[in-house]
Order: sequence, then structure tokens, then C-alpha cells
Amino acid sequence: MNTKRPDILAAVRHRSLPWVIVAAGAVVWMMADRSQGNHGILMRPAEAQEPARPLKPAAVDGARALGYLKKICDIGPRPAGSEANARQRAMVAELWKANGLTVSEQPFTAIDPVSRESKNLVNLIGSWKPERTKRVVIGAHYDTRPFPDEEPDLNKRRGRFIGANDGASGVALLMELSHHLPKMETEWGVDFVLFDGEELVYGRNGDYFLGSRHFARKYLADKKSRKWTYEAGLILDMVADKDLLIEQEQYSLEYAGQVVRSVWDTARVMGEKRFQATIGSAVLDDHIPLNQAGIPTADIIDFDYPHWHTIEDTADKCSGESLAAVGRVVSAWLELGPSAVKSRR
Ligand SMILES: [Zn+2]
Repeated sequence: MNTKRPDILAAVRHRSLPWVIVAAGAVVWMMADRSQGNHGILMRPAEAQEPARPLKPAAVDGARALGYLKKICDIGPRPAGSEANARQRAMVAELWKANGLTVSEQPFTAIDPVSRESKNLVNLIGSWKPERTKRVVIGAHYDTRPFPDEEPDLNKRRGRFIGANDGASGVALLMELSHHLPKMETEWGVDFVLFDGEELVYGRNGDYFLGSRHFARKYLADKKSRKWTYEAGLILDMVADKDLLIEQEQYSLEYAGQVVRSVWDTARVMGEKRFQATIGSAVLDDHIPLNQAGIPTADIIDFDYPHWHTIEDTADKCSGESLAAVGRVVSAWLELGPSAVKSRR
């Protein structure tokens, strides 16, 4: 995940504000401006609807998913452009290929904000049924923040940041879900994407969402030549917290209300209480560039995580059961297919 303003940290954790802004720079201004005006639509929770088809969640293996998370953490810190991140990418590519996905890389470059060196960054794409023209994208960032700059102990802010929940959790779940894709009856083609450079940021130096921005730009640039479209997208970020509770993220509601409704309805019908149909934080994440490129995308994120951007974001704070819960909902949602996200407005 990207950033939140320290002064509202307490409000985020204690849910004492109805309108929590988690943002930086221009977007803070934008949201602050909007919060004074009409935000009635945004503030209304997604209305419940019944899924059109029976739900068939996959038998997601939480222990295996947590095993992947630990394996990723064992690599060590994995900042954008690092050799460690390349190793993680190779590990995921190998598994995705073994499970029948078509794997490709989307390389791009970025300037490190501190060293000013050019870095080679790579989005990794695993495609299921690449010939299908109606597709969904399910993404997670795989780089970790260079340093734990929310660490309460100032002496440790240049310490070792592992990013078990903020980084490894989404990747681990996309690894686990790759085992189940071949058995799913979804009508969609599915693209799993690992986004690089989500947070090549040191304190306030740097830029967010480099990988998802590149991906979105390319999606728009290829509009005339490609014969397929993304009908929906999901971002998986910070989904392994032992104390998992996923509310509806505000930008997702604004940009992709039907996608949000369909996912939370799926969870409700399954009786999955870790998804709660209440309004959560407004989080800047990889879903923003995708939504701006016309892919209605929901951010699946539990931002109420005390170890966020600290040295304590380690595997022992994570749970296979939490990963499995999210995986089951995502798999059941995938099986609903295109009808789930048709706008009913
Ligand atoms: Zn983060």
C-alpha cells in the first residue's frame, strides 16, 4: 500500500472519522475539496444484490498460501529494481507456468528518487485463456517499500522492511489461486499481474504506482490493436492480517461500484464475515491508474493494520485462513463471470 497521513493514523485505526482520507499531494486536495461538497453517492454503502448464479468457491489451501508468503519473506526485502525482487518474480513465473498460465513480462524503467539511478522494473503477467476477449485483471504489487518509514522508533526507520502483509500477501494469494484457475468454470479470461514499483518511495521522496501506471498506459495505447477488453479488475493488497476485516474502499465505490457490490455480495452469500459491507478508508493504490484507464477495479484491502510500513510487518502477523477467505471469495466471484459486473444503474 502506499501512504497515509500520520495525523490521521489514529482516526484510521479507531474508526472515529466517517470520512478518512488516506492520500498524498494533489489527491488530498481533491478529496478534501469534495468532502466539503456533495459526496452522498460515495458515502452510501454498496447495496446488496443476489448473485445471478450459484456460487462455487475453490478449495483454496490456506496453509499452502501462507507457505508461499513465508517463502517470499525468506527472500528478504524486495524493493523495486532489486535482485531480490527479480528472484521473487522468477519464483512466481515458474509456478504460474507449471499451473498452465501463459507468462509474459512488461518491462519499463524508473529513476530511483534517492540514488537517481535508472532502474529496470518489470510487471509480470500470467494469463489464463489468453484467447478470450472478455477479461478480468487481478493484480498485486510485489515490490516492498525501501525502508520502514512509519516505524515508531525513529532509529529503526532505516531498518529492514519485509512487507509480509504489505507486499507478499497479494502475491502469495495469486500464487495459490493459480492452482485453481484451471478448474474454474469462469467465462472470463483472467490475467494475474504482479505490479512493480508500487512504492519506490523513501519517506516523501518518490512516486507511487509506477507499475500499474505503466500497465494502464499500455492498455490504453494498445486499444486499437487489441481485440480484448478488461471488464473488471481487483487489486489484492494487505489481505493476510490475522485480524482481517475488509471494508469497501472509497475510490473503488466511486469508480467501480458494481464490481464492489458483486464482490461483497459474493462474500455475504458465502457467509464470509471478513468482508464487511461498510465504507472503509479512501486508499491510493494500484486500482487508481486502472480505473482511470477505464477498467472498473476494486481494491481489496484491510488498511487497519498496526504494522503498516514498520519492521513488524512480518510473516508471524499473517494468517493462512485470512488468505484462504479472500481466495475463496475471489474464486467464487470469478465463476460468476461477466454477468456479475454488468451495471444495473
Ligand atoms: Zn506499502
